[in-house]
Amino acid sequence: MQFNKCSRCGCFYTNSGDVCPNCEPKDTFEMNKLKNYLDDSDTNCSIESISYNTGISIKNLNRYFSMDTFVDYKNNVQL
Ligand SMILES: [Zn+2]
Repeated sequence: MQFNKCSRCGCFYTNSGDVCPNCEPKDTFEMNKLKNYLDDSDTNCSIESISYNTGISIKNLNRYFSMDTFVDYKNNVQL
């Protein structure tokens, strides 16, 4: 059986994806929040200011920006 380590809480789980089933709702919530924030914000915002304004950790922001979902937003952000 393949075990994955959760990117959020560090526990081990067997389903696919970056995070365990417990953290999946938090990830979904934060990704929606991030999308809304980026849709409303100016271009060239820094990752620190996004983290400050959304409350999402820089570690998680970097993980979201490495996903295909956020590929279109990446140009607006100073990573
Ligand atoms: Zn987790």
